[in-house]
Amino acid sequence: VQTKADGRRISALIVAAGRGTRAGRAPPKQYARLGRETVLGRAVGAFLRQDAVSAITVVIAGGDQAAYEEAMRGLEGGDRLRPPVIGGGSRQESVLAGLKSLEASAPDVVLIHDGARPFVTAGLIGRVAAAVSESAGAIPALAVTDTLKRLDGGFAAETVDRHALVGVQTPQGFPFALLLAAYQSLGPEALAAFTDDAGIAAGAGLAVRVVEGEAENVKITRPGDLERARARLVRAAVPHVGLGFDVHAFGPGDGVTLCGVDIAHWRGLKGHSDADVGLHALTDAIYGALAEGDIGHHFPPSDPKWRGADSAVFLTHAAERVVARGGRLTHVDVTLICETPKIGPHRDAMQARVAALLGLPPASVGIKATTTERLGFAGRGEGIAAQAVATVLLPEADGDESHG
Ligand code: MG
Repeated sequence: VQTKADGRRISALIVAAGRGTRAGRAPPKQYARLGRETVLGRAVGAFLRQDAVSAITVVIAGGDQAAYEEAMRGLEGGDRLRPPVIGGGSRQESVLAGLKSLEASAPDVVLIHDGARPFVTAGLIGRVAAAVSESAGAIPALAVTDTLKRLDGGFAAETVDRHALVGVQTPQGFPFALLLAAYQSLGPEALAAFTDDAGIAAGAGLAVRVVEGEAENVKITRPGDLERARARLVRAAVPHVGLGFDVHAFGPGDGVTLCGVDIAHWRGLKGHSDADVGLHALTDAIYGALAEGDIGHHFPPSDPKWRGADSAVFLTHAAERVVARGGRLTHVDVTLICETPKIGPHRDAMQARVAALLGLPPASVGIKATTTERLGFAGRGEGIAAQAVATVLLPEADGDESHG
């Protein structure tokens, strides 16, 4: 990160005080869920991943503290996150409140970002910061690709030359003292005429450099934007397939538990827990898709607390790990390998039980069985084996570094 070595102190101000235009529409868009995070949490996370930024302050609306705390939960590097500042009735008033909160620490550079732009990358933040000089601000912008027309009473009038125009994004970076002075030199009415900080800086005579923006760095403004952003996250999800295998030997008993279903049998299965070989293979398949070890790692057999345990506990834990990783389990498939007992009569009950445990539709749960034509340990009736695969959609690994 190129800005780290130059010794400047860079603070970020993330503006998230808007209440939306339509009253009563809750939650405000910056607190809406976007995958495992919120729109705001995702934006703040990008700044936390940019090492050049030494402090981050979010400007929020009064009354949004609880939503803010929830949105910040679990962010890494949160020690650089300063307490939130309560904003004002307009974006300009909110930025001014944020700038004033930075006066005591007086950073060299301030980066101002819309809390409703969740797809900002650490790379873009670094490029903007690096382009800020002692006398000039910097903003990211994209060339306009559509042909532009001036409107005349609902009709298209002349074409506007788009080559001299750009669409402007955030974060926008400025020498802190100069931007604060620009804000303070303008009265509330003059401030209200501007729609971004670069306008205010330029209005006060500060030069503003333009760096290349990123097409993905959209602002969530209209309701459809949020749906599009969510769809993009799903498209970015990567399928991970995990494989599980398990064997349990027959022993004394009067029944076996397979895929969560109790089946009367003239023998039992030996094992530390309920010896549900099907759920064990399946649980390992899910851990495998997450690359998070196996059942023995999460539930050590040396721990007496798992003696006779219902293997649903293991499976449920694996499913919870998928959710914690921001993923989604989409499909599982289990093969039970044995001569006896007959699986066919219990197949539908197993499918229903596994589907219920995993919160999947039965159509996404494959359960089947095979013999080994009397070959091998299963064929000799010494035990039961099970194989399973699980498909998990996980968020794409953070690609920020590749932009930087
Ligand atoms: Mg086992």
